[in-house]
Amino acid sequence: MKCSKCKEKAIAYLKPYRIALCKNCYPNFYLNLVSRSIKKYGILRKVERILACVSGGKDSSAMAFALKKLGYNIEILHIDLGIKEYSVKSKKVAEELAEELDVPIHVVELSEYGFTIDDVDVKKVCSVCGTAKRYLMNRFARLNGFDVISTGHTAEDLILFFFKNVLSGGIEWIPKLIPRSESSDGLIARARPLFERSEKENMLFVLSLNVPFVTDECPHAPRDVWKEIIYDIEIKKPGFKQNFVRGLIKLAKSVKVEKEWELKKCRICGETSSSDICAFCRYVEKFGRV
Ligand SMILES: [Zn+2]
Ligand SMILES: [Zn+2]
Repeated sequence: MKCSKCKEKAIAYLKPYRIALCKNCYPNFYLNLVSRSIKKYGILRKVERILACVSGGKDSSAMAFALKKLGYNIEILHIDLGIKEYSVKSKKVAEELAEELDVPIHVVELSEYGFTIDDVDVKKVCSVCGTAKRYLMNRFARLNGFDVISTGHTAEDLILFFFKNVLSGGIEWIPKLIPRSESSDGLIARARPLFERSEKENMLFVLSLNVPFVTDECPHAPRDVWKEIIYDIEIKKPGFKQNFVRGLIKLAKSVKVEKEWELKKCRICGETSSSDICAFCRYVEKFGRV
């Protein structure tokens, strides 16, 4: 198979775009797609101070690399979750990436709060981890004057979120599907510049440019049947993911949902919360060793 642009050996045929690309032509193709999403949906602005959250996985590494190449003003935040060798490798990758991009890196250690993800009961581990990450990134961004937090969420992540939370009746989550939220009530603006990109597109990008990323899966991640279902649909209907996320954004913009809860300040840490004590402080109380 030959590259549709330069006739060199192609690394992949991208069905949704009906194009085959080589290692040299792919990165620019990808960067153009990311740039177009950012402009079309007003996801980021060049004047903003952006906190790019890098876990070390291919998606967040692709996000930080692409933003820097497109001329955005980023600094990297890595959260060390204390998941044995997996976290050690992840932190090393985030540091390598920051060095390669020549951008500042900040590392927040969950262990400073008295627990790590390895201390959490197995069943609840993913929800505790998600809460901890959201809490720590928002707190860091707010205390250090960042305008916006950028994450590596993909089209698959958005569709999974929709299947798991909205289809089961949680229509209050629909507005959360937008790729850019603005800062309010102590919550810093959030951006998902890769929301139209698939994991495969991100993987091809990091591989074609030798961007550092961790290949290991998180040892706590369970098998996700929904994820497999999404892959199956994409195989039968190429382009499904991109079309579906565009539909989700339209839905998110057109639906007005009344807030069912009032935002307060956590009595312990002062962060924005829906209850008197925020979910993160409750976890610190429960799992903390101090
Ligand atoms: Zn080419
Ligand atoms: Zn709190």
